[in-house]
Amino acid sequence: MMNSTRNPCVGWNLLILKVDMIAQQYPSHLLERAVQEFSKLPGIGRKTALRLVLHMLRRQTSEVEQFSEAIATMKREVKFCKCCHNISDSDICPICSDARRDASVICVVENIQDVMAIENTQQFHGRYHVLGGLISPMDGIGPSDLEIDSLVSRVEEGEVKEVILALSSTMEGDTTNFYIFRKLAHTNVAVSIIARGIAVGNELEYTDEVTLGRSILNRTPFEG
Ligand SMILES: [Zn+2]
Repeated sequence: MMNSTRNPCVGWNLLILKVDMIAQQYPSHLLERAVQEFSKLPGIGRKTALRLVLHMLRRQTSEVEQFSEAIATMKREVKFCKCCHNISDSDICPICSDARRDASVICVVENIQDVMAIENTQQFHGRYHVLGGLISPMDGIGPSDLEIDSLVSRVEEGEVKEVILALSSTMEGDTTNFYIFRKLAHTNVAVSIIARGIAVGNELEYTDEVTLGRSILNRTPFEG
């Protein structure tokens, strides 16, 4: 008769079982799967993910279906404005199609959050151009990954008199400012930069409305 404690396979099986129990922790694979999906979101750790999932579990089924349907539909159907690349429900966004907005001034921003932040200041009445990021060789993001050529094309059409650079005061922001400035050098457009009331290294979207509003009004010519 074989003594099971002397069988090395039994020891391994027990160890695997133990590791499995530590890793699992969840009473349901369905729950664990949902937690895993939530914890992929930025700033959401597994504890928060579990709290959110349990909250969802307490809601009505119809509410949860509405929640997931809204996200799936947004992802499937959202468009980007063909002119400024802002998020839009139509081919041209409400800002670009608003005749009351000054088409001769374009404010260049990194992302959609920045458009929202500047709109909240109510100090800017021109139009935007969303780059979709900043030049960052460290992250492998070059000018061709961004909407820079389309900005140059917009300016070359001739209606634009001023381009305001409203990018973050970071090394990536500075590099992008300088690159755009050079790309626009052959046009007659005035290039200005928002006043640096924003501390160096600060992200635009986290700056308070008053400071951001003032920094747009107090913009200065960009000097390369
Ligand atoms: Zn637009």
